[in-house]
Amino acid sequence: MKALCYHGPRSITYDSAPDPKLEDDRDVVIKTLACSICGSDLHIYHGFDFTDQTGFCVGHEVVGEVVEMGSAVRMLKIGDQVMIPGAISCGSCPQCLKGNTRRCVQGLQVYGQGRSQTSHQGSQAEAVRIPAADFNARRIPEGISAEQALMLTDALPTAWLGCRNADIRPGVTVAIVGLGPIGLMAVQCAFALGAARVFAIDLVPERRAMAERFGAEPLEPAVARQAITEATHGAMAECVVDAVGADATLALALRLAGNEGTVSLIGVNTSQKFEFPVGRTLVNNLTFRAGLCSIQPFWPELIPLVQQGRIRPEQVITHRLPLSQGEEAYRIFDGRLDGALKMVLTP
Ligand SMILES: [Zn+2]
Ligand SMILES: [Zn+2]
Repeated sequence: MKALCYHGPRSITYDSAPDPKLEDDRDVVIKTLACSICGSDLHIYHGFDFTDQTGFCVGHEVVGEVVEMGSAVRMLKIGDQVMIPGAISCGSCPQCLKGNTRRCVQGLQVYGQGRSQTSHQGSQAEAVRIPAADFNARRIPEGISAEQALMLTDALPTAWLGCRNADIRPGVTVAIVGLGPIGLMAVQCAFALGAARVFAIDLVPERRAMAERFGAEPLEPAVARQAITEATHGAMAECVVDAVGADATLALALRLAGNEGTVSLIGVNTSQKFEFPVGRTLVNNLTFRAGLCSIQPFWPELIPLVQQGRIRPEQVITHRLPLSQGEEAYRIFDGRLDGALKMVLTP
């Protein structure tokens, strides 16, 4: 088969790779219908974490059709169209049963992050093996398109987690810092959770324009604090989501929260130099939460909202390219060229 493989910083190419095969009687193999590039894939693309490993296939967001099935799979059949959570968990340990799949006692396993014991072949590929498929593949529900399902594999649940962790509830004023695909989906999620007012902050004009179309009030980072101070008569935002995780965005997010406000971080911070404003957090009675997302537990909340058109995650898809042009897709996404937000690739 063909797949996108990592060969070093800024080198992800369309290569031949071994066909995935059933390795356990609970596995299925899917033929990819569509896959997408995630902001976290750029960490690999930049060579941050995997400088000593190359040649592995990348990606963790995919929808596909079941083409092979182990004898112990009960919930699926050949030909089913399925969506695949970005991380693999066992589905039967106490943590998974509680919905905390990130803390699976078998160890969380991921697609497309290298050659370690806990990493599986990435899903920016023509086919993917799905372990414990009764839990890690879900038939796409009625009324959900393949592209919407693709957004449900990682990005939309992460945006939802960010908003839930920010305590967004009816009537609140919200600030979303960073309007990449997840930040823009967070704007939609904030309104779905009842936010009265959403300030949407990003450097890129096209991204602010899209947030405005979703009903938010767009702001440039340099003027955000002043503008929100004036707009709220000094009360600031009750709920703030940092969807980037850079030192500058986190510092801004913490500045935008009013007294008793909540700041939620879903972007990955790799700098390790951030000086957390402990004193101001104490004096202002702020709550700070950071977290990574368990996917399946949010589906019962998100799927009906998508089915009813209350959340339209596919609106952030800006580019649809063949998988064979994956190298170009990474270049466009990394450079934020051509208004790039969510990139979808099809074999
Ligand atoms: Zn992702
Ligand atoms: Zn488990």
